Amino acid sequence: SRFDNKVAIVTGGGSGIGEGISKQLASEGASVVVTDIDLEAAQRVVDEIVAAGGKASAFTQNTAKAEDSKAAVEFAQKTYGALHLAVNNAGIGAPAATIGDYDLAAWDRVVGIDLSGVFYGLHYQLPAIVAAGGGAVVNMSSVLGAVGIAENAAYVSSKHALIGLTKVAALEYTAKGVRTNAVGPGFIDTPLVRKMMSTEAITALEAEHASKRLGTNQEVAALTLFLLSDEASFTTGSYHLVDGGYSAH
Ligand code: NAD
Repeated sequence: SRFDNKVAIVTGGGSGIGEGISKQLASEGASVVVTDIDLEAAQRVVDEIVAAGGKASAFTQNTAKAEDSKAAVEFAQKTYGALHLAVNNAGIGAPAATIGDYDLAAWDRVVGIDLSGVFYGLHYQLPAIVAAGGGAVVNMSSVLGAVGIAENAAYVSSKHALIGLTKVAALEYTAKGVRTNAVGPGFIDTPLVRKMMSTEAITALEAEHASKRLGTNQEVAALTLFLLSDEASFTTGSYHLVDGGYSAH
C-alpha cells in the first residue's frame, strides 16, 4: 500500500477529521501515533484501527505545550523506529464574538493551539523526518485560511497564519526531503461543528457550499493522504481546498 513502512503522527486524532485521517493512513499501511489531549478518545480510535488489522498507538499530547510535541516525536521514534509523516490537525474554535467583545483569554487559547501548536509540532517533526530520510507534513488549516467570517477573529487569524507557516516550512525543508502543505476544509460534519452550531445554523451553512451539504472526514482524508504520498512529489508549500465550493463565491 501507499504508506507501508511509514510512521505517522496525527495530532487531535481522537475525533473528527483527525480520526478519519488516522484510520485511512493505517488502512494504507502506516503505523500511526494517534495523539490527543483526550487520551480515551485517542485510545478508542487506536482500538478500532487495531481491530481492523492496522498498527497504531495512542499518546497524550496538548499541542499548546512544546514539550508535548517533543515527547510525541520521541514516542514515535521509540515505538516505531522513525518518523516520516505528520498531520498537525488538532484545533479548537471559540465562542462567537466581535473583536471588541472578544474574550482575551479565548484569543490566547485559540492561537496557542491553532497556530503555536502547529509551530511546536513542526519544530520537532521536521528535523526528525529529515533524520529518517524524508517524508511529508500536512497542516490542517481551513477554508477560513482564505476567507474570513465575522465573530471568529482568533480562529480565522490562526488558520490564515498557518498558510504562511506552511510556506516557510517548505522553503526551509523541501530540499532536505520534507514537503509541507496546508489543507483547507470547508465545513465538515464533525463533533467540533456539531458542538459549535445549532441544527438551524448547520442548515444555513450547508447552503453556503456549492455542494449544498457539509463535507465528510473521508473527503478531507483523501486530499490529505494524496499530499502525504509520493504522488504529490512536486507539491510543497501550498494550500489545498476541500471546501465544496464554499470559497467559490
Ligand atoms: P474535533 O473537535 O472533532 O476533533 C479535534 C480533536 O482535537 C479532538 O479529539 C480534541 O480532543 C483534540 N484536541 C483539542 N485540543 C487539543 C490540544 N490542545 N492538543 C491535542 N489535541 C487536542 O474537530 P475537527 O472538526 O475534526 O477539526 C480538526 C481540525 O480541522 C481542526 O484544526 C479544525 O480547525 C480543522 N477544521 C475543521 C473543520 C470542520 O468543519 N470540522 C473545517 C475546517 C478545518
